[in-house]
Amino acid sequence: MNAQKSQTDYDLVIAGGGMVGASLACALGNQPLRIAMIEAHNQKLDTPPSYDDRAIALSWGTSQIFRALGLWERLAVKSTAIKQIHVSDRGHFGVTRIDNQEEHVEALGYVITARDLGQVLYGALSQYSNLTILKPAQLTDLAFTDTEAHATITVNHGTNDATREDCSSKLIVAADGGGSSVRQLLNIDTRQYDYRQTAITANVSVSRPHNNVAFERFTAQGPLALLPMEGNRCSLAWTRQNKVADSILALSDEEFLRQLQREFGNRLGRFTRVGQRSAYPLQLLKASAQVMKRVALIGNAAHTLHPIAGQGFNLGMRDVAALAQIVIEQHTAGRDIGLLQALQPYQQWRQRDHQSIIGFTDSLVKIFSNRFAPLALARNLGLIATDIIPPLKHTLAQYTMGMAGKLPRLARGLPLQ
Ligand SMILES: Cc1cc2nc3c(=O)[nH]c(=O)nc-3n(C[C@H](O)[C@H](O)[C@H](O)COP(=O)(O)OP(=O)(O)OC[C@H]3O[C@@H](n4cnc5c(N)ncnc54)[C@H](O)[C@@H]3O)c2cc1C
Repeated sequence: MNAQKSQTDYDLVIAGGGMVGASLACALGNQPLRIAMIEAHNQKLDTPPSYDDRAIALSWGTSQIFRALGLWERLAVKSTAIKQIHVSDRGHFGVTRIDNQEEHVEALGYVITARDLGQVLYGALSQYSNLTILKPAQLTDLAFTDTEAHATITVNHGTNDATREDCSSKLIVAADGGGSSVRQLLNIDTRQYDYRQTAITANVSVSRPHNNVAFERFTAQGPLALLPMEGNRCSLAWTRQNKVADSILALSDEEFLRQLQREFGNRLGRFTRVGQRSAYPLQLLKASAQVMKRVALIGNAAHTLHPIAGQGFNLGMRDVAALAQIVIEQHTAGRDIGLLQALQPYQQWRQRDHQSIIGFTDSLVKIFSNRFAPLALARNLGLIATDIIPPLKHTLAQYTMGMAGKLPRLARGLPLQ
């Protein structure tokens, strides 16, 4: 086959159709912009990395964004509400509880599998006439000059030059995950920290009703989260050190459940069944810049977090809401949406949220991984203080619910414009 080369012009190209990239495509669907979304996987929506069976806790703020996008009804029927969050430290006395009624919201958040979320997002994408989906296809190169009013992107629809296509766009949004090709092609530095930990996930059945409570339990072996799901099932995310992860994965179901019971205790009665186990190595990654001329970073491409507090996707959704708003404002004002001046307000707006959530998540991992007795005492006093001092608890709840700081229009449940 001869090399196919065509010049296609878009206003905005989204590299990566994972949960964050596909959500941005939905946010900009039917807006007066020509958009392309490039996704490397030929997802059947049940394949890792993006749309597997992992449960994702959507914060209240994220549910507001999906409400504003008109997608919430379709997501709600596949979700389970979180009414209370219970935080405890195994072998110590401190406990904190966050309650939806105290926060005056219908739910603190919702649990949905990544696969169900993907099905709703991809179902919606087909209805936007301004959107072209290139899939399976990979962004393999990009270039721009000072004089041209666009960047040139190379998209590969296969594995060789014959399937390569060049197209141009005013703005490229990197939503291509932790190993972002866009970030690497542009030599954007990252700060990285390897936690040397692996999250082991599985669905488990319990003998007592979960009553829509999400549990976060810190143990000497690592934090353990249980999210409520339909019926008497919960989704488990159990963080273990890398060196023991393989042996935990290899345990028989009975032994796995026995160890889980020992670490979690009896709050949910007996653990009766465990489904397929999966493993995710964990790291912290933060890009040194969120924008440059003709480029903006969102989601895991900009920041990859430890899943301890279920914040990664929620933080990415606030990137989506802020970037969509700024792009539409700049476009409506007749400005080139790819200019650095047009994108800098996005970076400034998102900086504080990124710093707070990265700091919060990273501190939780490090403080609760430490068994040094005075520190264990201090953090338990901290849990108690948080439980009994209403303003402290409210602040923690606002962060957990994704409602802290200056919120974009979509996160307030309002349309983009
Ligand atoms: C165990 C675990 C539990 C979690 N639980 C929660 C939770 O409860 N709540 C929460 O908010 N977050 C949670 N997270 C975090 C959440 O999963 C991520 O933040 C989220 O998946 C990031 O989505 P993304 O679209 O930015 O990146 P990704 O999901 O990595 O998607 C990137 C996409 O880009 C595509 N791609 C890559 N390179 C290219 C290229 N060159 N060209 C075209 N396409 C490309 C990939 O195929 C992929 O589909 C959890 C994470 C883990 C590991």
